[in-house]
Amino acid sequence: MTKVTEIIKGAASLIIGMGVTIKAFFSPVVTVQYPRQTIDITPRFRGHTKLLGDEEMPERTKCVACGICAKNCPSRSIKKVEGEKKEGEKKKTATTYILDFTTCSQCGICVESCPFDALAFSADYNPAGYSREDFLYDLVKEYEKRKKV
Ligand code: SF4
Ligand code: SF4
Repeated sequence: MTKVTEIIKGAASLIIGMGVTIKAFFSPVVTVQYPRQTIDITPRFRGHTKLLGDEEMPERTKCVACGICAKNCPSRSIKKVEGEKKEGEKKKTATTYILDFTTCSQCGICVESCPFDALAFSADYNPAGYSREDFLYDLVKEYEKRKKV
């Protein structure tokens, strides 16, 4: 191959490469600068379960610690549900709700079986941790944290 042919081939390859780059440059952006930018998660996304607040008393959740969700969970992922009845109240208020997210299959049986509609799926799509224990969530504490934000 002569030098001239090599130069022509190199230039053609460069033009083809630049064509791909220029086409991508003017195409709509489909990615975001994660983690500085995030996208809205579809409402049907299933993150870990979360407790919902009581509309009338937003300082507490709707969970009355009946334990029905824990009994129905096929993965035995709801490890502990405790509550206390405050003076003057008819129902208990959950004080502890431990979810083992390492075994939860996000099947939704707990959400569907709660007679008080106290559970929903969170939009938390990027949980991270250093050990299994980091994925033992106390959903009462998680609600308290969420309430402050
Ligand atoms: S989340 Fe619902 S089913 Fe589970 S303990 Fe609370 S009130 Fe009962
Ligand atoms: S989503 Fe399914 S596996 Fe997870 S805690 Fe609820 S019932 Fe158990």
